[in-house]
Amino acid sequence: MYRIAVAGFQHETNTFVSKPTTLTQFQVADSWPEMLQGSDVISGTRGMNLPVAGFIDACACSGVAHPLPILWCAAEPSGKVTADAFDTITGMIVDRITSLGEIDGVYLDLHGAMVTDTFDDGDLKIIRRVRQTIGPNIPIGVSFDLHANISAEITELVDVITIYKTYPHLDMADTGARNFELLVAELNGAGSKLAFSPINYLIPLHAQNTATTPLSDIRAACDTLGTDGQVVEIALGFTASDTAHTGPSVIVSARSTQTASETARKASQIFEQNKRMFDTTLFTPDDAIALWTADPEASLLCADVQDNPGAGASSDTVGFLRALVHSDVDRAVVGLICDPEFVAQAITTGVDAVVSAELGGKSGIAGDTPLMGRYRVDLLRDGFCYNTGEMYRGCISELGQSVKVTCLDARGSVNAIVTSNPIQCLDQAHFTYFDVDLTTMQIIGVKSTLHYRADFEYLVDRVVSVASAGQFPCVLTPDTYSKLPESMTFL
Ligand SMILES: [Zn+2]
Repeated sequence: MYRIAVAGFQHETNTFVSKPTTLTQFQVADSWPEMLQGSDVISGTRGMNLPVAGFIDACACSGVAHPLPILWCAAEPSGKVTADAFDTITGMIVDRITSLGEIDGVYLDLHGAMVTDTFDDGDLKIIRRVRQTIGPNIPIGVSFDLHANISAEITELVDVITIYKTYPHLDMADTGARNFELLVAELNGAGSKLAFSPINYLIPLHAQNTATTPLSDIRAACDTLGTDGQVVEIALGFTASDTAHTGPSVIVSARSTQTASETARKASQIFEQNKRMFDTTLFTPDDAIALWTADPEASLLCADVQDNPGAGASSDTVGFLRALVHSDVDRAVVGLICDPEFVAQAITTGVDAVVSAELGGKSGIAGDTPLMGRYRVDLLRDGFCYNTGEMYRGCISELGQSVKVTCLDARGSVNAIVTSNPIQCLDQAHFTYFDVDLTTMQIIGVKSTLHYRADFEYLVDRVVSVASAGQFPCVLTPDTYSKLPESMTFL
């Protein structure tokens, strides 16, 4: 039986956010579990749509390998990871790998877009430390998020790379399981070589829907290159990251370096051929609501794509809510606005009472101010929200103390879900937990860039991306960045 060390340390770092990500944020639960150690990694992730869960399940069921879980942790996307958090967690991982004695392989569940306050490529640094610890001959398998910003050096240090194929990320566990199969092949002597090819354009995340063209076509075309045991992996990159290695890339595994390189070059040509096909349309809040006004029988979902806490934004801007309050919409709801100060006021005021207060707009985001108004407190919740959608299956969203309010200054019935913690609104449970009947809504507003599609798209007649203020820029220009290679272009 092969002995495979298993560890996970995930972070998607938004370098445009100044608030650092500390050790505590990796230790507590958010929409994913708290820091897990030893056998708790198995029990604490079992059945979840997480790479580590998929890897362990495949490993445990294989009959040829035994998983040795060390540690798994993740923090909500936010600012740069502090050196203290990075060194502490990486130190725990390598110390425990050493203490395992003889091992045959290592699996790492990483995001691929981690930046620390001292190093732009956190994932490379983790992999380097592990490689230094185990030496050159023990294979390392790494799974990455589809939004990984991968550097060429990573592909020189590891043996297997698998990347989510879907956005929304419905195949996270599958990506871990796939990694196990390929890692076992390496342990059995496959001797695969990796080739890396960067893509020279940034794709805004609201245009990265893998279920539609052009990405569905790009994936299909790349898959046809995967003959003779070749594996073609695609990363689409995380754009809220100003580093020299930010951007999409292709990684090919093949029996020879030459074959892998040729296939990687062909795959990058496929990307180039599809460059003009991406739909980057963004509506202003007023223009989005006007779509509903023009066709009020059709329900509309508006994604507030730039204030997505799942990409590091504050989740407290109120540009879209303000537009709704001033509109003629009869029934609308917006979630999840993060404003612990407002929630505390609502708790003090009590259910069915009216609180006159400023809602949101407290993070000082350019172009955003609080929405002063009168709000009726409809419901208070403790914030342990059991997700029901496919992507976060088995996970609890820890919203913190939360409240549903009715905006009394609106002409119609406009509700807002206000939380104490920043959690991406991507699961219907984030509304149904507050007794909101989504099927009766004319407009639903969600602070999410694309993940919401998995659990909401089938509910409504139309979906649009809306740009209001937020720390996750979706209009990408060279002025936003200082470290990208000169060859990088923008859609
Ligand atoms: Zn992602």
